[in-house]
Amino acid sequence: MSHAPLNALVEQIRGLHEATPALARFAPWPGDLTPNDRPAAMLPAADLVAALPADTAVTRAVQAAAPHAEWRQSYSEREVSADFLNRYGHFELFGPHGHFHSSELRGYIGIWGSGLDYDWHSHEAEELYYCLFGTPRFRSKSKPETTLQPGGTRHHTPCEVHRMQTCTTPFLCYAVWKGPGLAGRPAMEPQ
Ligand code: ZN
Repeated sequence: MSHAPLNALVEQIRGLHEATPALARFAPWPGDLTPNDRPAAMLPAADLVAALPADTAVTRAVQAAAPHAEWRQSYSEREVSADFLNRYGHFELFGPHGHFHSSELRGYIGIWGSGLDYDWHSHEAEELYYCLFGTPRFRSKSKPETTLQPGGTRHHTPCEVHRMQTCTTPFLCYAVWKGPGLAGRPAMEPQ
């Protein structure tokens, strides 16, 4: 098993995090990262990553790491559609259960295919999304809706109920969680 692509990705993400004021203000880059030997686990979502235009160093690093990543989903088909599960996934780059262990901060790489509706959901941890690719539309019950462009960010307070819809392209993100509920899971809102 090769760790080099994950090491290269965490270095790319550290550079992005430290150079992006919204990310650096949200939380400093964690000082407690230690390598954590997580197994690779594939999902169809990894193919969406491979198909993205390789036009930035971060995207290329995500593409190189994707075959070595432990891809996960937070939901079952009882909660979301089969189409959603076939075209969405994330991996925890660093955090309580990540490829690099941290108890300070949790950082994910996530991808959603085009035309998906990630319905109303919430989680205890405070969150910042950073758009690496795509133009997703975010809504929450307590602030105006926003369509992100690459380089844009979206903040959610603890337990803020939010929703995300992808447009005509996939959405690739770096998402960061902090605070209470760091090791928790998101939950869909009851219908
Ligand atoms: Zn969220």
